[in-house]
Amino acid sequence: MAIREIVKYPDPVLLTRSEEVEEIDVGLRRLVSDMVETMHAAPGVGLAANQVGVARRVAVIDLSVGKDPSQLLVLINPQILALEGAQAEEEGCLSIPGITEVVERPAVVEVEAINLDGKTFRVRGEALMARALLHEIDHLNGVVFIEHLSPLKHSLTRKKIQKLIRTGEWAAVGS
Ligand code: ZN
Repeated sequence: MAIREIVKYPDPVLLTRSEEVEEIDVGLRRLVSDMVETMHAAPGVGLAANQVGVARRVAVIDLSVGKDPSQLLVLINPQILALEGAQAEEEGCLSIPGITEVVERPAVVEVEAINLDGKTFRVRGEALMARALLHEIDHLNGVVFIEHLSPLKHSLTRKKIQKLIRTGEWAAVGS
């Protein structure tokens, strides 16, 4: 296992739809194990493969941040089956460090995905779990959370990010 470098916004890999996984092979298993280690080290509750520069539809979520192994969720080619309700909570992203904003999202989501054994499973998430599932699936579609902000808030946030990049507080890897 290895900790990989987390790609920062606005690297193009974060703004591009990732490709479906076609085979669960040794490389994919290594990617997932590195993603889990990277997420726990950050620390964060979720990570998508394009956040470590790999444009494949894989995400990991662990709301316990490594404290409870049973909470680790590996999602390969996840698809949203249903959405319900609404919630507005503060949200951040390991690829946009230092920025948190209130984001409106559905309160409940049902997702179908494939696990590392190649089996299809369903997961229903509420509250923070719904938010994490939607945030990570957004990543796989090339969408970062600030795209959910109002146009004004979005442009203010972009300015804040440009300033952080300019002052060297964080560098956009690969750009
Ligand atoms: Zn994120």
